[in-house]
Amino acid sequence: AKSVLQVKGLEVTYYTDLGRAKALDDVSFNLGAGEKLGMVGESGSGKSTMALAMMRMIKPPGRIEGGSVTIDGVDLMALDDDGMRKARLDKIAYIPQGAMNSLNPVMRIGAQMVDAVRSHMPRESGSAIKDRCMHALRSVDLDPSVFRMYAHELSGGMKQRVCIAIGILLEPKVIIADEPTSALDVVTQRQVMETIDRVQDQINAAVILIGHDMGLMAQFVDKVAVMYAGRLVEVSSVRDMFTAPNHPYARALISSLPNLDNKGVFQGIPGLAPSLLRLPGGCAFHPRCSFAMDKCSTVRPEPQILANGRLITCHLFDEETRQ
Ligand code: SF4
Ligand code: MG
Repeated sequence: AKSVLQVKGLEVTYYTDLGRAKALDDVSFNLGAGEKLGMVGESGSGKSTMALAMMRMIKPPGRIEGGSVTIDGVDLMALDDDGMRKARLDKIAYIPQGAMNSLNPVMRIGAQMVDAVRSHMPRESGSAIKDRCMHALRSVDLDPSVFRMYAHELSGGMKQRVCIAIGILLEPKVIIADEPTSALDVVTQRQVMETIDRVQDQINAAVILIGHDMGLMAQFVDKVAVMYAGRLVEVSSVRDMFTAPNHPYARALISSLPNLDNKGVFQGIPGLAPSLLRLPGGCAFHPRCSFAMDKCSTVRPEPQILANGRLITCHLFDEETRQ
């Protein structure tokens, strides 16, 4: 697939009273049109920070300190504020964690959708905007009557589908959904994932799904990215990741799954996730890694792309180690 999204060297630091915390450290990856990437890792590993950074929605004391996010040849980081406001929803849509609870309770669903479109297409006629909203509702399999309803009249799954409908109103090239199925029952989770799948097919967007349910994710994504302490430690096809994970942390994650083809809710692996304020030197994973070598506590591993196209950030894959 033609690459529509290139993230390069993205860096985010939080300046807190307790010190500097690097929440995102030199994150780079590409995605093709129609490609789906699942992003996993413990809480605090940088998944949501990455989504916010791509949207340029990092709030103080956090700061984006470097990197580029290029969609269709346009670097979002280089846009002025107005350009970025237009790019949101138009080029890149973000469905935040708990989005369904942030629908306006006193405004009809339709009015909220119309507002979203109008803010980007001020000259569009009312009927064209309404057509666009109805089309989006149909795409997510919601009845047209939802247009006139209020959020409290909808189930959790329906609300989540409204949020997806809003996300695709302007047919963005990239969609980021942060934990889109959390707080939903198992059947509804599947429906929401299938909805994302279908709308993504319709508009051929690249999709980033942030989540912790590896089992559910495995059925819907093409590639899996594993984050640890603000870094991308492995990116592999879903098949490679589940059958032969490369990175020791990814291996631990996969082997901690109760059942690969079933409900793989990640239970965690031994040892505490490090505080970003006091990261271990060298490879941040070394205190928990059963493969750690001498240099792991002092030398920071750099991300490298292996011959098979997989990305890995680990000294086990350095040339001299492999020899
Ligand atoms: Fe383990 Fe060393 Fe690889 Fe880090 S670099 S994951 S400590 S082997
Ligand atoms: Mg999160």
